[in-house]
Amino acid sequence: MRSRQFLWLSAAVLAPCIVLTVLFLRLLDQERQLESRRATEAAQQRLTSARQNLLAQIEPHRLGQTAGSQISFRGVIENGRIRMAWELHHSTEDMKALESAVRSNDAALFRRLAGLPQSATDEHGVPVAVYAIPHLASDEQQRQQVRLRAEAAANPHPLSAMGLRLIHAPAALIEAAQQGESFRQQTWKTLPSEGQWLAWGQPLQLIGFAPSTQPGQLVFRAVTAPSGLALDKGELLGPPFVNVRAQLPAPAPEDGSRNRTLLVTMFAFTLLGALFAGVLLLRDARREQALAGLRTQFIAGVSHELRTPLTALRIFIESMKMTPDLDPATRAEYLDTMLHETERLSRLVNNVLEFSRIERQTKTYTLAPIALRAVIESLLATAGPMLERAGFTLKADLQDSPPLIHADRDALEQALLNLITNAMKYSGRSREIHIKVAADGPHAAIVVRDFGIGIPRNQQDRIFESFYRIPSTENKNIQGAGLGLTLVKHVMEGHGGAVTVESEPGRGSAFRLLIPL
Ligand code: ADP
Repeated sequence: MRSRQFLWLSAAVLAPCIVLTVLFLRLLDQERQLESRRATEAAQQRLTSARQNLLAQIEPHRLGQTAGSQISFRGVIENGRIRMAWELHHSTEDMKALESAVRSNDAALFRRLAGLPQSATDEHGVPVAVYAIPHLASDEQQRQQVRLRAEAAANPHPLSAMGLRLIHAPAALIEAAQQGESFRQQTWKTLPSEGQWLAWGQPLQLIGFAPSTQPGQLVFRAVTAPSGLALDKGELLGPPFVNVRAQLPAPAPEDGSRNRTLLVTMFAFTLLGALFAGVLLLRDARREQALAGLRTQFIAGVSHELRTPLTALRIFIESMKMTPDLDPATRAEYLDTMLHETERLSRLVNNVLEFSRIERQTKTYTLAPIALRAVIESLLATAGPMLERAGFTLKADLQDSPPLIHADRDALEQALLNLITNAMKYSGRSREIHIKVAADGPHAAIVVRDFGIGIPRNQQDRIFESFYRIPSTENKNIQGAGLGLTLVKHVMEGHGGAVTVESEPGRGSAFRLLIPL
């Protein structure tokens, strides 16, 4: 029955813990999912903002809204064919004038063009003046160039615009021209549509495609890609970028791990709390059970203790009633036994009453100065016949007794009587009891010593608990309710004193009462 109750209680404690653990694991799992979703969203967001930044930076180039100097190369797509800028017919008057000046080696025209402002540029942003100035140069190398150009101009098949440019152009321009050429050769089949950006080349170029003023034409302009973009590593930026990848900065450390730590800590605390509460509950239940067991034991003990003297009394009274002419010696013996039994009864009833007062916390002690020696002597005189009848010799050493103590006389007498009764009950074959009273530092010490069955060390604390009786076979035959020492301890504590025990199984016990002087 008990073990079943414990089983139920343990189940009641464990079930919420298991539910809690399952819930926690689910929560942890959800948190992990949420975190990975958050990470994906954050990466997406970083990508979007990188894309927007890049677009804001380069979109004006695609739409031709900036000066041409940042454009590496450009061209149009016409009927599915790429034509680079230098193949196109230039409409600007100055470029036309430059070409005719080169053709005719017209120094006056060169001079006018060399004086043009910086803002007059070709489609690459190279000022027309830069082209014109070398023609006016005086040193040998420049004259050589002038001659070359003159020859070119004299040629019935003049150099193409590309050729002309290659003669004059700075190295960067030549490189751009070469890049444009290889772009044309490599990518014309995979050209994207209007509005898109294509990454190409090494170093990376971004090529944007915009509608042209000419119907059916698509203009494209190549811009040097900002750093952090690549063709082969990083995240795809997504439309309008066809194949651009960006290496995004590592995400800031997420709150997730902090959340998880918080969750784990909360869970650990809750679980510990639940387990702790469970343990307390189990302990309480166990105590309750132990107390219930002790109460049953108490009732059994008390009833037994009541029944024994009552039965004895009834037997003697009946015998005396049935034999009115009992001889005086037997009659005296009967009366002695009856007296002894009534004393036992009243001791028991007193203990039970005191105990119930203690339980109800209504027990109080009235301390008054009393002559200790006189109290013990009168107690011994009262207990004398009882001890004598049972064949005990009591040796009292009251010589060093302090004269006065502050105590509740009745309570002290009862405590001492309990110790003497116990000494008698648990004396085994021994018939000797010693009482010694002496001053012990700030206390008066009263030691009641017997030479009986003794108390095992591991039981010496427990014997002061309510209803506790040592569960030994020897004890089973000795009547008792387990209250005597509880009362002794309470009385001593009520006096600000203490009770201690020294005992050895088989050699006897010494109970020491310490009362403050
Ligand atoms: P009880 O009514 O059982 O004597 P007590 O509270 O007086 O109750 O004592 C508690 C237990 O302590 C006893 O059951 C007994 O086992 C043990 N005990 C008390 N006094 C002695 C003693 N002088 N010698 C041996 N054991 C003792």
